[in-house]
Amino acid sequence: MSTKADVVVIGAGPYGLAAAAQLRRAGREVHVLGEPMSFWERHMPRGMLLRSPWGGSSIGDMRAGPTLDDFERTRPAGIARPIPLAEFVAYGRWFRERTVPQVDARHVETVDPAPSGYRLRLVDGETMECVRLVVAAGIAAFASRPREFDGLPAELASHSSEHTDLARFAGRHVVVVGGGQSALESAALLKEHGADVEVIMRAPRLRWVGRATRAGWLGHLLFHRTDVGPAGLSQLVARPALLRRLPRALMDRAHRRSLVAGAALWLRPRVRDLPVSAGRRVVEATRANGHLRLRLDDGATRDVDHVLLATGYRVDVARYSFLSPATLAAVRRIDGYPVLDGGMQSTAPGLHFLGAPAAYSFGPLVRFVAGTEFAARALARSIAERPRATAEPALEVGRAERAG
Ligand SMILES: Cc1cc2nc3c(=O)[nH]c(=O)nc-3n(C[C@H](O)[C@H](O)[C@H](O)COP(=O)(O)OP(=O)(O)OC[C@H]3O[C@@H](n4cnc5c(N)ncnc54)[C@H](O)[C@@H]3O)c2cc1C
Repeated sequence: MSTKADVVVIGAGPYGLAAAAQLRRAGREVHVLGEPMSFWERHMPRGMLLRSPWGGSSIGDMRAGPTLDDFERTRPAGIARPIPLAEFVAYGRWFRERTVPQVDARHVETVDPAPSGYRLRLVDGETMECVRLVVAAGIAAFASRPREFDGLPAELASHSSEHTDLARFAGRHVVVVGGGQSALESAALLKEHGADVEVIMRAPRLRWVGRATRAGWLGHLLFHRTDVGPAGLSQLVARPALLRRLPRALMDRAHRRSLVAGAALWLRPRVRDLPVSAGRRVVEATRANGHLRLRLDDGATRDVDHVLLATGYRVDVARYSFLSPATLAAVRRIDGYPVLDGGMQSTAPGLHFLGAPAAYSFGPLVRFVAGTEFAARALARSIAERPRATAEPALEVGRAERAG
């Protein structure tokens, strides 16, 4: 069976949902594929608190809502700050119910160019054609593992994105590699679950974010409510349409300065007693009697039960396995990022990218939930300007399921 749609969105995380909500408000029919909030539910540790502030954690258009404030009004006990992961997932699902009533949870296996757009093959073999395709598939495919850990089995070395339940490491000796929020928060959770933890990081020292006050008139002047980037720069980063007009070198600098690895200040008391080897690199990891032996660049060794790689994500849209070589061939890319126009459209006509892959063209804001408002509006404006697909039958939702 084959269905046809005007706009298809791949992804039902914050970006896909925000885009679909905005397009529906603009009167476009949209077919959304993907499991709602699955990355937050299945690739982040239970008990995690969001690093992004309240003002940067609403999904989509703040004027149209529903915002995090609207959601909080439905919670008799309110929502803690920093925002607990479970509350954010609940907000995402609530947002979805109110704005995108039908989501088709099926996985997309392949995307190929078609005479009037794109042809998608879904996990159950069904095909679907659309004129415009919005890829909002997140960062799960971009998990980055240092080469030193290649070939090790999952029980000895794993990426942080592979875990939701860190309690399974209770009583074990775990090294966390990395010095950012994910590393430090994972280390804190591991310790609280009773693991024996050490952090090994390349940077010379831990960097705490949030030292400067965001309160008062000066705080508001220096930090946009989205709070991405250091004092002052935060205001520019919050305006991606302006940022993208800057010379490339300046934009790259803004990007780098905004994404320096660091952890939120509120984590500090939770990791105070943890051993941290800063300025060190693991140069070799080998199996030794069912354990893992790590050799550091200063010659020291550690025998551990497990190494947790909180080593981040490296955008490369060629790692979206569903994009066929023919589809990718039409997408101009720089360092793995697609080059996008003001409507988030790549050089492949009708193929748009949202979320982290848009960061080369729009700066660091679009790596975070805070960028969903800008991205959804830019996308909807650009698609609304283009004529609706005509030669096709009205959208058939086929086997679309209500996601629950
Ligand atoms: C540990 C950690 C903590 C973070 N904390 C924060 C934070 O506090 N604040 C913040 O703003 N950001 C945070 N981030 C960044 C966060 O990942 C992004 O802000 C957010 O997930 C971007 O949303 P998205 O919609 O682009 O992607 P996702 O939320 O990852 O959604 C991707 C969607 O695509 C779907 N999908 C993927 N491939 C396919 C396919 N082939 N077929 C069908 N569907 C598919 C998935 O099912 C999912 O629905 C954190 C990231 C990590 C790793």
